[in-house]
Amino acid sequence: MERLYGGIEAGGTKFNCMVGAGPDTILAEKHIPTLTPQETIRQVLAFFEPFVRRKQLVAVGIGSFGPLDLHPESPAFGSITNTPKAGWQYVNLRTQVLDALELPVSFDTDVNTAAFGEQYWNPENHGLESFIYVTVGTGIGVGTLVNGRPFHGLVHSEAGHLPLPHDWERDPFPGICPYHGDCLEGLASGPALAKRWGRPAENLPAGHPAWRLEAEYLAFGLASLIYTCSPERIVLGGGVSQHPGLHALVRRKVQALLNGYIHSPLLLEQIDRYITAPALGNRSAMLGAVAMAMEAAGQGDVLKP
Ligand code: ADP
Ligand code: ZN
Repeated sequence: MERLYGGIEAGGTKFNCMVGAGPDTILAEKHIPTLTPQETIRQVLAFFEPFVRRKQLVAVGIGSFGPLDLHPESPAFGSITNTPKAGWQYVNLRTQVLDALELPVSFDTDVNTAAFGEQYWNPENHGLESFIYVTVGTGIGVGTLVNGRPFHGLVHSEAGHLPLPHDWERDPFPGICPYHGDCLEGLASGPALAKRWGRPAENLPAGHPAWRLEAEYLAFGLASLIYTCSPERIVLGGGVSQHPGLHALVRRKVQALLNGYIHSPLLLEQIDRYITAPALGNRSAMLGAVAMAMEAAGQGDVLKP
């Protein structure tokens, strides 16, 4: 009998669900709108139900928008905590899926899950111990693997909110982060670009001054991550990163900021291999959740201590 795994990328606008056993074995995929928790979770469970009934599904992985409670000893373990998303505060996603499907469930942030997907399934990255996934989309999120494992710490990484040097004369835009104004997310997320330039990021043409500034802000963020976490690779994903040429601009600026200080051939000569686009496209988190489900079922080979 086939052994299949469920992957859920729980987002603020949609829940992307998958059944499969890897990038080349995807049996079903569904995008479910994020409505009320009750309605959305009902549809998610209905998507998995036929595979559970046929006893094909072995485990499920969830990568969720946050903030999350990731401490197994905490009463709220498995919950989305104080999100601004109406109706979703303290919804325990993990427990609801676990109770309904009665299968092992792994639970982590959407970006840690995406980082794991890109590390686990891309042969170039498989087994790397320190690894970072950055998404630049509606928000900016950072997923981190340390010693090959998703890093949590006190809560989990919130490096999308890193403070940056902000030249107010060159860029008088105050930023849009409700907490910090001009943090990285406040200055460089998709909605920040739209507000500063008066049109959606996808409508800003190559060569528009928006992109040089964007690359500089992202490079400041990546340089801070490189100095603190010393990642072996960085994947730069999310909607805004799809802009053609943005990766090249960011790579050059990262090299300029580091100024040769970090002596690694990856940074000095092979930065195209160091800062990359997601190999799994927009399926990084779903396929990462599948890999984490394999681990939860004892089938993975990377997350074991
Ligand atoms: P989310 O962060 O909600 O998961 P995405 O990663 O798709 O979603 O990011 C959405 C953001 O990406 C929007 O702000 C949108 O304007 C921007 N975006 C989408 N496609 C492009 C593109 N080709 N070039 C630049 N920006 C884009
Ligand atoms: Zn912020």
